Amino acid sequence: MFTDPSVPSRACCCPARPVVRVIMPPTAERTHPVDLWLCGHHYRASLHALLAAGATVEDLTLTAEQAEAYHAAAAV
Ligand SMILES: [Zn+2]
Repeated sequence: MFTDPSVPSRACCCPARPVVRVIMPPTAERTHPVDLWLCGHHYRASLHALLAAGATVEDLTLTAEQAEAYHAAAAV
């Protein structure tokens, strides 16, 4: 399923496979965005904090077609 070589086999938070890539925006102390690979459990556990920080979330479990359908549904 995760054949993309740019996707690590382990999440940043624990040894589980990552299901989302979270992109943390730059802050006053950090001038560049940071990628975080999170498993489903830790993603759900920290979702509110991530959204509050203005993070962008990429769901790795969706195929390109599913993501397209999802965005199309969200736009209606
Ligand atoms: Zn985790």
